Amino acid sequence: MKALIVVDLQNDFLPGGALPVPHGDEVIPVANELQRHFRLVVATKDWHPANHGSFAANHQGKKPGDRIILDGIEQILWPVHCVQNTHGAEFASAFDTSRIVHVFHKGVDPLIDSYSTFLFICSDLPWTTALNTARSMRASIG
Ligand SMILES: [Zn+2]
Repeated sequence: MKALIVVDLQNDFLPGGALPVPHGDEVIPVANELQRHFRLVVATKDWHPANHGSFAANHQGKKPGDRIILDGIEQILWPVHCVQNTHGAEFASAFDTSRIVHVFHKGVDPLIDSYSTFLFICSDLPWTTALNTARSMRASIG
């Protein structure tokens, strides 16, 4: 079974957001269209607590782009972005979320940044859940 994983299609990563990707909004209609071609659609959200260690604002005298050692690992510092339960952390309003069966939250541990969708360490639910969901859907579809 093929699955579509939509990664971090959140307001703060779009033009006008706190950490914008230029033309990031142009992927929204593509993501919406692609979903029709997959039986399983999941998504991720960058989902930081306000005290996250990757935020420059949480380190006195530091600015975005500076590097620090965070819990033993080199960390680039970012502007405050994708703080849990804020507008910036929400999916883009034009993004069709109706077919998403699960949203994985990453970057929830204040001491661990998490760029990868697959290697995040702290999540509310492990990837095995998504795989089990996929297996269940396959079984039900036949
Ligand atoms: Zn982040």
